[in-house]
Amino acid sequence: DSVGFAIVGLGGYALNQMMPRFPQAKRAHVAAIVSGNPEKLRQVGDAYGVPADARHSYETFDRIAADKRIEAVYVVLPTGLHAEWVIRAFAAGKHVLCEKPMALSSADCERMIAAGKRAGRKLMIAYRSHFEPYNVEAMRLMRQKAVGTIRLLRTEQSYRMGPTRPSENWRTSRALAGGGPLEDYGIYGLQSALYLTGEMPESISATTFRPAGDPRFAEILAHVSSQWRFPSGAVAQLVTSYDSAGINFAEVRGTEGVLKMDPATSYSGQKMWTEGRDARAFSPGDPEVQFAGQLDHFTDAIRTGSPIRTPGEMGLRDLRLMEAIYASAERGQTVRLAPDGRMRG
Ligand code: NAD
Repeated sequence: DSVGFAIVGLGGYALNQMMPRFPQAKRAHVAAIVSGNPEKLRQVGDAYGVPADARHSYETFDRIAADKRIEAVYVVLPTGLHAEWVIRAFAAGKHVLCEKPMALSSADCERMIAAGKRAGRKLMIAYRSHFEPYNVEAMRLMRQKAVGTIRLLRTEQSYRMGPTRPSENWRTSRALAGGGPLEDYGIYGLQSALYLTGEMPESISATTFRPAGDPRFAEILAHVSSQWRFPSGAVAQLVTSYDSAGINFAEVRGTEGVLKMDPATSYSGQKMWTEGRDARAFSPGDPEVQFAGQLDHFTDAIRTGSPIRTPGEMGLRDLRLMEAIYASAERGQTVRLAPDGRMRG
């Protein structure tokens, strides 16, 4: 009863991370591949034993509708293409796993959710940290008040991008990547701030920076920094950058102690420890189970109807928060938020 997936977009993440992990999943297999590159279709199709009639170009994709071997579509394209391809996959009657971030606007997220409802099919956003033992344990520790009441939270996601320009790297193109580092990497800190506190922010203030004359930042931002206030009184600071030395960090400081994660949300090699009252280091499991874990969660939902932990609604919520961050930076003002993340005024 394995679920056959069509993989749309054979780029770095699909080829190097997700596709090699399918055999570790309980009931997921690569049933079809979709790419604009015939040579890649041949090589990857042969490597994964994908039948010739299940190797599609973007033009022949819609034929998957009639193909019973395919039950789900995994969209691993540049972010600006997610909305179009998720909606096409629902039109073909398939369930959809969509890479993060869900899209580049809350309006697109709403269209994607509506398309899934119309089709009566499932939509999951591939937020792998929800299936990664360190982050799952961190959520549990915070609910148990392992550091007392949460007061301060800090996340940093940065790396220094090499020389490039929008025509050669989609991550620097506004049409495909939005503002840049926040959508791509800072989203891990945004997610951490939400699942570690268990709250939605009631206000956000933000600043962005884009240096002049650097082709990497002709269209996107170099840094995005935001400060959030939660209804409990907790405060979070989130920074993300494409132009500073690498870090992937989260810290929660409570009334009784501190939890640190460094690296916090990587593919592997997570480190997590508390300081203060109950100082200790944690090793709750192998982070690499996150890849198969998210596939298992999705196929369980397809087969048994179990609820999806990271649904389209979560992707939508996160896009609303990113829009609030950009609105605050543009206006030079604090933005107030409703509990669903919509801006008040
Ligand atoms: P990538 O550049 O390695 O691959 C993108 C693929 O899309 C390439 O094969 C490219 O040929 C194809 N493509 C199709 N149409 C394109 C177009 N118009 N312009 C540019 N490329 C086009 O990117 P990636 O790192 O594999 O990222 C793909 C998606 O996966 C993104 O949404 C990204 O955010 C997400 N991602 C998620 C994680 C994670 O840990 N969950 C990690 C990396 C990437």
